Amino acid sequence: SGFSGADLANLVNEAALLAARKEKKKIEMEDFDEAKDKVTLGKARKSKVITDVDKKITAVHEVGHVICSMFLDKVEPIHKVTIIPRGFTGGATHFMQTDKSYYSKSYMLQSIVGLMGGRAAEDVILKELSTGASNDIERATDLAKQMVCNWGMSEKIGPMTVSKKESQVFLGRDISHTESISEQTAQIIDSEVREIITKSYEKAIAILSGKKELLEKMADMLMEKETLEVEEIFALAQDYISEDEVADLEKKYKAIKDIKKEFDKAAAEEEKNNSLSNDDEEKNKAEVE
Ligand code: ZN
Repeated sequence: SGFSGADLANLVNEAALLAARKEKKKIEMEDFDEAKDKVTLGKARKSKVITDVDKKITAVHEVGHVICSMFLDKVEPIHKVTIIPRGFTGGATHFMQTDKSYYSKSYMLQSIVGLMGGRAAEDVILKELSTGASNDIERATDLAKQMVCNWGMSEKIGPMTVSKKESQVFLGRDISHTESISEQTAQIIDSEVREIITKSYEKAIAILSGKKELLEKMADMLMEKETLEVEEIFALAQDYISEDEVADLEKKYKAIKDIKKEFDKAAAEEEKNNSLSNDDEEKNKAEVE
């Protein structure tokens, strides 16, 4: 999920609070990670007992997202993956997202491949599907629908808005017919959405089948450590990539480091502002007294 400027400010505040609670002088990356988890996923459920079977499914699933995003050139880089459950999720893959005004069609398609990575990994490694992918599937389907219906990214539909509203009941009456599109158009939308999803899933399967050994190793490592940081993720991947993949992977790694630097800068800025306002408070207090 992405962060807007306002979300980022909120995140920085939350991270500052967490750092302060640990009596740190400086906000560190781990505070950001925890803040992000808290803001987006709810508090950690450390007390919950998780079976090894569930843990394995989660690890394989999350690593599927990680590896897909590593070998897609346009999507956001991963910087951390964890199987520590929070809120309703069994695990989480953390993407770093830069603020963008526009998203290209290839970016959207790759995002859907990334979302399919979890389910595809279960398919490739466990030869079994779990309910854990339901949120990914929902988000992927929603993106595909928007591409077809709102963003003019389907050749068959063309650059026009077509609304295919789910049947809505208003005051007891079904008003879906007021948003009328022809049955034929509805069928084209369905087949276009289905094609985007199917092809993305196949692409995810292709990436992960080609990196099966890495997928297994990384999932084992994640089960053992519960959280993997970007350094560990990329260090492990080094042993499983071909020569022509080295440059792309290095680029991706550098991109994450650069974004991390931006985060640190934002944190330092926030810290400066905080200490300034604290000084003001102190001064005000002194004046009152
Ligand atoms: Zn997932």
